Amino acid sequence: MTRESLEFDVLIIGAGPAGLATACKIRQLSTELSVCVLEKGSEVGAHILSGAVMQPTAMNELFPNWKELGAPLNIPVVDDEIYYFTSQEKAIKFPKAFEPITLKNHGNYIVSLGNVCRWLAQQAEDLGVDVYPGFAAAEILYEYCDEKKSEHVIGIITGDSGLDQHGDKKTSYMQGMEIKAKYTVFSEGCRGHLGKQLIKKYQLDAGKDPQHYGIGIKELWEIDPSKHKEGLVIHTTGWPIAETNALGGGFCYHLENNQVSLGYITDLSYDNTYCSPFDEMQRWKLHPAIKRFLDGGKRISYGARAMAKGGLQSLPKMTFPGGLLIGCDAGTLNNAKIKGSHTAMKSGMLAAEVIVNAITNQKQHTEITEYTDRFKQSWIYDELHYQRNFGPARHKFGDIIGGAIAFLDMNILAGNLPITFNDKIADHALMRPKNQCKKIPYPKPDGVFTFSKLDSVFLSSTNHAEDQPCHLILADSNIPIKHNLELFDEPAQRYCPAGVYEIITDEKEVHSLQINAQNCVHCKTCDIKDPSQNITWLAPEGGGGPNYPNM
Ligand SMILES: Cc1cc2nc3c(=O)[nH]c(=O)nc-3n(C[C@H](O)[C@H](O)[C@H](O)COP(=O)(O)OP(=O)(O)OC[C@H]3O[C@@H](n4cnc5c(N)ncnc54)[C@H](O)[C@@H]3O)c2cc1C
Ligand code: SF4
Repeated sequence: MTRESLEFDVLIIGAGPAGLATACKIRQLSTELSVCVLEKGSEVGAHILSGAVMQPTAMNELFPNWKELGAPLNIPVVDDEIYYFTSQEKAIKFPKAFEPITLKNHGNYIVSLGNVCRWLAQQAEDLGVDVYPGFAAAEILYEYCDEKKSEHVIGIITGDSGLDQHGDKKTSYMQGMEIKAKYTVFSEGCRGHLGKQLIKKYQLDAGKDPQHYGIGIKELWEIDPSKHKEGLVIHTTGWPIAETNALGGGFCYHLENNQVSLGYITDLSYDNTYCSPFDEMQRWKLHPAIKRFLDGGKRISYGARAMAKGGLQSLPKMTFPGGLLIGCDAGTLNNAKIKGSHTAMKSGMLAAEVIVNAITNQKQHTEITEYTDRFKQSWIYDELHYQRNFGPARHKFGDIIGGAIAFLDMNILAGNLPITFNDKIADHALMRPKNQCKKIPYPKPDGVFTFSKLDSVFLSSTNHAEDQPCHLILADSNIPIKHNLELFDEPAQRYCPAGVYEIITDEKEVHSLQINAQNCVHCKTCDIKDPSQNITWLAPEGGGGPNYPNM
């Protein structure tokens, strides 16, 4: 059977801020070019999870009149509070003079990034872009060039639908389409599964530090109006993750409509196999500085997503023959600011400029190396350079000393510390065997402030057709029990925020791994943190996954 095929000038994989900014900018620069954006979520925004405090720099450049156009940046930040939680009960509030400069949010907006993306998709469509939600790019299409003796990217194939769990065709079977383009832009967000393949194939990470990650667990609450302070931004560090000798911190942003966006980011460099990022988030909410807002409130949504935070030292080359890797798919997040939406957008806008240039000059499928210079000349590079030591210094020296070095570099020396720290060990390689780790006594969910994983996943409205091939692929099916369980008490049981990996023990005390793939919220943590690097996340049938309303 021949596949259906479509062709565009530019194909963009992923309707996040990076992909949508690319699409809008291309059509602003040239109405001649055809542009298609594919999104694996059932609608644009369904898979977007962020804080989010948005720095409007890129938005101002892309749509200087965004206010008149109705962009949902409605809540300006009115105050920042930063706390060091010294224990489960106590906290020290940072005096304003000691607040890291990167966490001062005057001029920024508290948003739902999902809603910002929905709005950007509407602008893209109004500019003539074809936006196709419900389609996951499953494979990359390459073409061999005899002259160059190498392969370049010519597009992608979307996933088949209507296969059963054994890979056999059901009556609803539809073969995936080929979508070809002169240039393909990969903007899948953190740990994109195609981005990962491109980095390997074209060795885009040669000479770079490994990428480093965090896992963000987020909840949306509707709270008592008397406790709500629209525009207030709170960041915390210290307890609870400090008890595990790991890094991380929480955020609490007061949005509109008496809602607060609460989240806890656990740095995936943690080494205690008993650490559970989900439970760290649950117990963090019990600190009086957070609990005071939630008392009498109601949790209305839940989700999780990994973030790529290695910064410049880990940023791969972003160009390859036939396309570009942008946004968090490459790793453009500013970790010290905990912000990546503005840098993702800017990386896309720069991509748009070089692509339009290349196609106008009759080129296609080439490597647009000009992008690297454009990137270096832009504010995005300056921002990432300024904060380059924030992550590695804290990994090397811990939260307090590393934090002080980062403070000195950024607040006092304006990012000019004459040294750049590196962080050469990948997060998954740091996990210690269970016999070297202390168990962590997480409290049981109380059903008021803290909840179970399954109750939480329910709130993410996650849905996958149950009878489809499992999208979580084990390179070796023996590893989870024979190696990971034996050595690490299988950490997937704890790092997965959706309870997808369960160890089942039968009456003869025989253990097996059950993968509840239908619960997967697409956070990508298993692909990152499995100590054996045995798990590969692949895109399930398009439209499957969480259905976040305004995360
Ligand atoms: C907990 C948390 C808090 C954060 N807080 C902030 C904040 O306060 N401020 C801020 O600016 N940033 C914040 N960030 C970072 C910010 O969310 C990201 O930097 C930003 O979303 C990156 O944009 P992106 O377009 O590169 O990727 P994403 O926003 O991840 O978008 C990628 C899109 O591509 C789609 N996709 C992926 N693979 C495929 C495929 N194969 N086929 C089709 N579609 C695909 C996804 O479904 C998704 O819609 C936070 C992140 C997290 C996790
Ligand atoms: S299975 Fe993997 S990607 Fe899915 S929710 Fe669990 S850790 Fe995240």
